[in-house]
Amino acid sequence: MKNIKPIKKLLIANRGEIACRIIKTARLLGISTVAVYSDADANALHVKMADEAVRLGPAPSRESYLKGELIIAAAIKLGVDAIHPGYGFLSENAQFCRLCEQHNIIFVGPPVAAIEAMGSKSAAKQIMQEAGVPLVPGYHGEDQSPQLLKKHADDMGYPVLLKAAAGGGGKGMRQVSHSDEFFDALDAAKREAMSGFGDDIMLVEKYLTQPRHVEIQVFCDSHGEGVYLFERDCSVQRRHQKVIEEAPAPGMTEELRQQMGEAALTAAQAIGYVGAGTVEFLLEPDGQFFFMEMNTRLQVEHPVTEMITGQDLVEWQLTVATGKPLPLQQAQLAIQGHAFEARIYAEDPNNQFLPSTGLLSRLIPPEENEHIRVDTGVLEGDEVSPFYDPMIAKLIVWDQNREKALSKLAKALSVYQVDGVTTNIDFLYNLATHSAFKQAQLTTHFIDLHEDELF
Ligand code: ADP
Repeated sequence: MKNIKPIKKLLIANRGEIACRIIKTARLLGISTVAVYSDADANALHVKMADEAVRLGPAPSRESYLKGELIIAAAIKLGVDAIHPGYGFLSENAQFCRLCEQHNIIFVGPPVAAIEAMGSKSAAKQIMQEAGVPLVPGYHGEDQSPQLLKKHADDMGYPVLLKAAAGGGGKGMRQVSHSDEFFDALDAAKREAMSGFGDDIMLVEKYLTQPRHVEIQVFCDSHGEGVYLFERDCSVQRRHQKVIEEAPAPGMTEELRQQMGEAALTAAQAIGYVGAGTVEFLLEPDGQFFFMEMNTRLQVEHPVTEMITGQDLVEWQLTVATGKPLPLQQAQLAIQGHAFEARIYAEDPNNQFLPSTGLLSRLIPPEENEHIRVDTGVLEGDEVSPFYDPMIAKLIVWDQNREKALSKLAKALSVYQVDGVTTNIDFLYNLATHSAFKQAQLTTHFIDLHEDELF
């Protein structure tokens, strides 16, 4: 059991909307905050919001937000009790987590061993298989000889999906439709994996043709207790990246919800998990679900869960990080209404979604209230720089049911004004008002399937 150590000062090892979002909760809890920044972010909102701020280095992430030793040095110097890594950057970096431990700084996240266990998709699958969590049929072994990989694909039947064990963000994946394309696809996937992650170990999975992406939010404390805060449907994706997320998942039965929730907790407990985690599943039209991976951090899309449960997940994270028990038990958690999140990006849907950079000369989001939330890290007059993810904001809405929530989302998108950069707002609006989306005809191929009507 961990010692209970209060957090009086928190360093946020991140930038943008998630840094601002974490600072908000810290403030509410009376915790003082330390921001870190690169030269490109010297005047950024997260720096303005924090009580103190420390410069890390030049704009590129490798020289700033990924410099774990610099961040630890700043934390020591300023007497910080805990570090919240947000998502991305160092959030799933076991080495950074270990450095925090060595310096007696609380890492607001899971133990090192849990990060390591889930760091490789193949090792994760091995653990989940042993724990009895259902897996997508496939091969996730160590023997990587191309002939063996192909034999597994041939035996399984096409289409198959090649996936980099170290992959993330949809990179290092290749769909293979026929046996005679296998070796070319394998070479290409391995090359992408090696250049992206420095590791080209591959998994071969049955490619599911009609799946939905349904993920379960879990939370565990350091006393061995765990709960699930229900599911999010993140089926609307572009190149395996989420575009609009919602909670709860449409058409979910109580029975399936419970089965998936319990499978997710089994997965978390199999690796001694502590903190906020997300267990991602593919859900087939017949109700079968398969473990895909576990993300050992707060997710971008966590606000939809907050909206339907009325909980503050960052507050939960800070609570369990100090060794306290979970704020609520399973029976005390319930779903209320329906929530959507749309990711507002500076990118050009009519030009392959290439990032658009520049000055945000006009930025007028919809007015926020209890049921419309805008999580952002930029203000009018700020620059969207080429150095980081070009997300402008997350627009989150809630209403009593899916239909009402969706029309609220469409309305909020229609009044969102951004000048100076090209955005995906019209594209999101077309999605939110699409008849098939209204009818919740969701699969991970939604955007490809309706491409003609969305642009
Ligand atoms: P990453 O870590 O790169 O995000 P994931 O394993 O989480 O990769 O998969 C990302 C997305 O790829 C999923 O949300 C889903 O849309 C698709 N996908 C993954 N595995 C399969 C599969 N076996 N069959 C069909 N689609 C898949």
